[in-house]
Amino acid sequence: MIKDRPYTITEIKKLTPSVTSFLFKADDGTSIDFTPGMFAMLKHVDSSTGESIARAFSIANEPPSDHLEFVISLIHGRFTSKLDNAKIGDKYLVSAPYGQFRFDIGSSKKFLFLAGGTGIAPFMSMMRYAKRLNSDMNSVMLYSTKYANELIYKDQLDEYAKDSSFRLVTTVTRPQDGDGWTGETGHVNAEMIKKEVPDFMERVSYICGPPAFVKACKDALISIGVNPDNVKAEMWG
Ligand SMILES: Cc1cc2nc3c(=O)[nH]c(=O)nc-3n(C[C@H](O)[C@H](O)[C@H](O)COP(=O)(O)OP(=O)(O)OC[C@H]3O[C@@H](n4cnc5c(N)ncnc54)[C@H](O)[C@@H]3O)c2cc1C
Repeated sequence: MIKDRPYTITEIKKLTPSVTSFLFKADDGTSIDFTPGMFAMLKHVDSSTGESIARAFSIANEPPSDHLEFVISLIHGRFTSKLDNAKIGDKYLVSAPYGQFRFDIGSSKKFLFLAGGTGIAPFMSMMRYAKRLNSDMNSVMLYSTKYANELIYKDQLDEYAKDSSFRLVTTVTRPQDGDGWTGETGHVNAEMIKKEVPDFMERVSYICGPPAFVKACKDALISIGVNPDNVKAEMWG
């Protein structure tokens, strides 16, 4: 566990018009360990006023690591507005790891991952971790965004989906004329889960995203008979 440890931004990538990934490296070069799914508290300290503000962000890379990757929706709020003009070399304080949303890779051979928007972040950590371990897990991911251009990490997920042990289903809730979208449309619901994941009862489910997404997915799983003990969820906001 680390508390207010200095980290420096080493990479900034705009992934979509509103989502940016940030890579932070520990100034002292030490690695931290965590379970995929957990989050870090990122603190910004104003150099002139000394005022600080902190927010939780799910860790998107796999453990253990001396760097932390975050996928952040820049909504121009109190914290995210600090990141609007972030530059390589900017310093933040990190406390980590936190959270009960922990990927128990040994708990099952089969998983169902339900990701909404930037809620993909902890699943990237889980997928990368499973790859590193050469795990033989079988997983299906239903990944939902409002617009087609908001599907982040799509290339990496498509690459993972070349392996028959991982199936990716992407769904867009607000397809637009001319966006070229040919995949699923609409919200993740009980019908979509039954259609896309016929063996859903055999899977341990993980859900992450905005509160409405998490609640809808959880309700859908329970409505089709899934044991709530087999559903782990992380709600943002
Ligand atoms: C465990 C956990 C993990 C999280 N992980 C991530 C993560 O990986 N990536 C990430 O981007 N966020 C994540 N969040 C959310 C993050 O902590 C902040 O709440 C978010 O960045 C907004 O902070 P802010 O200070 O900029 O906004 P604030 O100034 O606190 O204002 C937030 C306001 O904006 C509204 N709002 C929230 N989301 C949106 C939106 N998408 N568009 C418009 N308005 C919105 C809220 O209703 C609220 O009124 C996580 C939260 C938790 C609790």
